[in-house]
Amino acid sequence: MSHAPVIARTIPALHRAYNDLKKRNATIALVPTMGALHDGHVSLVRLAQKRAKRVVVSVFVNPEQFAPHEDFASYPRTWKADLAKLRDEGVDLVWNPDVTTMYPDGFATRITPEGPATAGLEDRFRPHFFGGVATVVAKLFTQVRPDYAIFGEKDYQQLKVIARMARDLDLGVKIVGAPVVRERDGLAMSSRNIYLSGDERRAAPVLFRAMKDAAKRIRGGESFDAALHASARSITQAGFNLDYLEARHTETLAPISNLSAGPARMLVAARIGTTRLIDNIKI
Ligand code: AMP
Repeated sequence: MSHAPVIARTIPALHRAYNDLKKRNATIALVPTMGALHDGHVSLVRLAQKRAKRVVVSVFVNPEQFAPHEDFASYPRTWKADLAKLRDEGVDLVWNPDVTTMYPDGFATRITPEGPATAGLEDRFRPHFFGGVATVVAKLFTQVRPDYAIFGEKDYQQLKVIARMARDLDLGVKIVGAPVVRERDGLAMSSRNIYLSGDERRAAPVLFRAMKDAAKRIRGGESFDAALHASARSITQAGFNLDYLEARHTETLAPISNLSAGPARMLVAARIGTTRLIDNIKI
C-alpha cells in the first residue's frame, strides 16, 4: 500500500516538502498537469518514476493559457479522483497551488516564447496559449526545482516549446517526452474527451485513423499533399471542422513535404461540436 502523497498548496509548504524530498540528494521528476487525470497522465508519472527517485505532480488549471472564450471555467476538475490515482501510483508530492498563489496581485512578468511557439500550428488558433504555458511552466520549474520534467507528445508543439525554453533560459531541467496514450479505438486520451456527445465520441477516432492512413500513403510514395488532402477530407466528412492537418519537421516544426528532408511528424487539430481535439503521429 503506497503512502498518501504530501499535498502542498502554498510556497512555504512546497519548500518544506522539497527539503524533505531532497534528503540524500534524491533526484526529482516533475509531471505538470491540469488535473482530470487519465491513463495518459499516469504513463507520465510512471516514466517520471523511472527517471528519478522522487516524483512531484502539479495539478493546476492555468488561467493564463485560456483565452476568454475558451473553457477555463468548465474545464473538468476531479480533485478527489485525481488524488486517489496519484496515491495509487506512489507519487511523493502533489503541488496544488491556487490561482492567487501562482499569480499574486500585481503579477506582471510573462514569458513570450518564439521559435517552435510561432510555428503556425496551435499558435495560429490559440494565440494566448504558449505564452501562458511557458509562463506557468517556468514558474513550476523554479518552484519545484526538478531534475527532470515529463511532458506528453500528445501536445507535441508544447513539448518543443518547453524544451526550447528550458535550454534558452538554462533552467537546469531535462525535458523528457512521453508517447501518446490512446483509447482502444485510437482516440488520444484527453481530459477534454468527456465533453464529447455519444455521436461525437464515435466519430472522434477518425483523427488517428486518417493520420495513420496518410502516413502509410506517404511512406508508400504518395506526395504529402495528396495524402494529407485525402485524409483531411475523411476528417471533415466525419463531422469535424479542421483547423489543420500538416506535416512538420520533427525537431524544428518547419513545414516539410518530402521524407528526405528529415524526420517528419503529422499534426492535427479539429473541432466537433464545441470540443477541440489535437493529436499527432510520427510519419
Ligand atoms: P494536461 O493535464 O492536459 O495539461 O496534460 C498534462 C500532461 O499530460 C501534458 O504533458 C500532456 O501532453 C500529457 N498528456 C495529456 N494527454 C496525454 C496522452 N493521451 N498521452 C500522453 N500524454 C498525455
